[in-house]
Amino acid sequence: MQQKTGYFGEFGGQFIPEILKATFDHLTEHYLKARQDPAFWAEYKALMAEYSGRPTPVTFAANLTHKLGGAQIYLKREDLNHTGAHKANNVMGQGLLVKRMGKTRVIAETGAGQHGVATATMAAKFGFECRIYMGAEDVERQRPNVFWMEQLGAEVIPVTDGSQTLKDAINEAFRDWTGRMDDTHYCLGTACGPYPFPELVSWLQSIIGDEAKTQIQTLAGKQPDRVYACVGGGSNAMGIFSGFIDQPGVELVGVEAGGKGLLSGQHAARLASPDGKVGICGYKTVFLQDQDGQMKDTHSVAAGLDYVGVSPILANYQKTGQVRFEAATDSEVIAAVRLLVKQEGIIPALESSHALAQAFKEAPNLRPDQVILINLSGRGDKDIFTIADAFGDQKWKDFICHKAKQYEGR
Ligand SMILES: *Cc1c(COP(=O)(O)O)cnc(C)c1O
Repeated sequence: MQQKTGYFGEFGGQFIPEILKATFDHLTEHYLKARQDPAFWAEYKALMAEYSGRPTPVTFAANLTHKLGGAQIYLKREDLNHTGAHKANNVMGQGLLVKRMGKTRVIAETGAGQHGVATATMAAKFGFECRIYMGAEDVERQRPNVFWMEQLGAEVIPVTDGSQTLKDAINEAFRDWTGRMDDTHYCLGTACGPYPFPELVSWLQSIIGDEAKTQIQTLAGKQPDRVYACVGGGSNAMGIFSGFIDQPGVELVGVEAGGKGLLSGQHAARLASPDGKVGICGYKTVFLQDQDGQMKDTHSVAAGLDYVGVSPILANYQKTGQVRFEAATDSEVIAAVRLLVKQEGIIPALESSHALAQAFKEAPNLRPDQVILINLSGRGDKDIFTIADAFGDQKWKDFICHKAKQYEGR
């Protein structure tokens, strides 16, 4: 059966205001042209080599493998990217596309601020004007990222509508785009949203899987038995999975935010829990929504996984059985951070630690000749506030109180 353009099985599509249709068509045309042009990918790879240290290495976690006593554990080191995560791949690739489209201004939504910082970095590098939409609540909570976005030259707009968080920021970014389509590109942050974004972002992130499949072959002498990635919107998972999706015998595992547990209702597991329901909000996918179709509040210790929607491509992979979905709870995630830091000297992002937590659960049940590859999507320096709290570090509390005292009365 012929697949309808922009659909992945029953998911995906493009549910947008009529006024944006021509802009989406323009973007789709340039995306498809870039995809057929080997010069685009060559330019992209060269840029990522020069600016973001690609290819990122694959590291054999020898101590951890020994400690867990099962499968060999390898890590794809997206934490070593410029700005600390795989988000650099997406924004730099879209930056090249913006140049090709002849546009000069970029806008983006951001929740925790990581995609905002990445976009502002790209804009500084390319010389684009940049505006970041962020829920007013998030602006309050994520001051370090807001500080850097502003230093990078971006204008950060606090959105005071609704719940003052990510979904309100997305609405506001679309409103901006509607008013300035000629010179502006909306640099969407993950493999979600109306077509072509899920496919465009996944394509740019496929650089991860491309590298990883040859690296793991060289290091381990075989293809992995299992590949793990955390799933927020789904972009780092799509990136690493792309290298293995057609390989027989490689099991792909997407790990969502289990929050306080799937039974607590406080989580962001759209595919791994029965709470996800098929719906349409710009695109068709599985959302966490109530009986009336209202989007639910989500919870995760990792701000980057705290999202109601998920990539329509991943929703389809669940249907086709090509990817298995699991959830890791906040406390399992904190334990995984502690273990990786101590055993391997690597500080993982809380998001990435969901993939670690699930892999650590499964590794001891596998044989020593089996190989697992975990996508370490980002580094955890940004999470020091949350991690130090979770570890209950008194000296960190003293430090924060001391700093606060210094500022008092100024
Ligand atoms: C943003 C982020 C994620 C979640 O986004 P995906 O699109 O699901 O990859 C995961 N890990 C890190 C480190 C992030 O910054």
